[in-house]
Amino acid sequence: MECPVCKSTKHVELNSHPDGFAKNLQECGDCGLLWIRNGEKTIIVRESEQKIAVNQ
Ligand SMILES: [Zn+2]
Repeated sequence: MECPVCKSTKHVELNSHPDGFAKNLQECGDCGLLWIRNGEKTIIVRESEQKIAVNQ
C-alpha cells in the first residue's frame, strides 16, 4: 500500500472500524492523509497535513 500523496509505504496502516464502515480506510502516519481505496478509485477522507510536491 502506498500513500497517494507522499508515496510513503512505511507508515500506512489499515484502519478497520468495528461497525464495518469504511472497511478499506487507510491512514498514512507520515503525512496524516486518510483515504479509502475503492477498486481503482482513491477517495480522500482527510487531507494531508503536509503540502508535498507530487513529483517529489
Ligand atoms: Zn502520506
